[in-house]
Amino acid sequence: MPELPEVEVTRITLAERLCGGQVTSARLGKPLRWPLGCAPQRLAGLRIGEMARRGKYLWLPLSGTQDAGGLLMHLGMSGSLNLADAPLPPGAHDHFELVTTRGTLRLTDPRRFGAIVWSDAIDADPAARLLARLGPEPFDPALTPLSFHRALKARRTPIKAALLSGELVVGAGNIYVSEALFRAGIDPRARSDAVSKPRAEKLLAALRQTLSRAIALGGSTLRDFRDAHGMSGAFQDEALVYGREGQPCQRCGGTVRRIVQAQRSTYFCTGCQRR
Ligand code: ZN
Repeated sequence: MPELPEVEVTRITLAERLCGGQVTSARLGKPLRWPLGCAPQRLAGLRIGEMARRGKYLWLPLSGTQDAGGLLMHLGMSGSLNLADAPLPPGAHDHFELVTTRGTLRLTDPRRFGAIVWSDAIDADPAARLLARLGPEPFDPALTPLSFHRALKARRTPIKAALLSGELVVGAGNIYVSEALFRAGIDPRARSDAVSKPRAEKLLAALRQTLSRAIALGGSTLRDFRDAHGMSGAFQDEALVYGREGQPCQRCGGTVRRIVQAQRSTYFCTGCQRR
């Protein structure tokens, strides 16, 4: 599943190339998770603004003399966006296509949990409704150690589950949470409301480092967008605990353990991580 780093890498790669271009036409394939919400013909002639990201959503602003809005995009479980100058004919899994003066932007999504939805503005429905539940962005300066600690204090679940909920911070997927908890020395079973302020601060820094590293790896290893899912693989190669059950901990030599929390695998080291 594309996580926040993959989506951010998608944005970095596409934003500059598309910005300033113009839509020539749009084409739909099989139904996606949600309908487009407008006739594809409406998009023709609109100017493309700078692509933005919120959580795992991408926002492509579009404007014309009479019409303005944009496309809110989500890659779902298996989606990827590709921009090509001379694309091949659409394949069986290509379900949205935006032909522009900067190339053809195509959503390939075999499982079709992804979506591309027209909204009159990012802060108008349906975009506003879809984005309303998202927690703060991990790199937003408004997310401070103090506000993060307060949010942890308000939850009585294990810290791992609190982070995975996406309510405290968006984009902290399973692999990134496991790695950040290891780097911060916090046992994933520790209760969220029992984490002290200094440890919360360490955890927030570890989350930011982990996500930055994953974005950097994606940016350096991804050439073809269809390989977007290989990115977590590149990060996984340097994971300290994730996927390393039974192997020696690289920090203390103890054994990395795996447990299941909320139906997700958690990897950690009891020697290095305290409740
Ligand atoms: Zn250890």
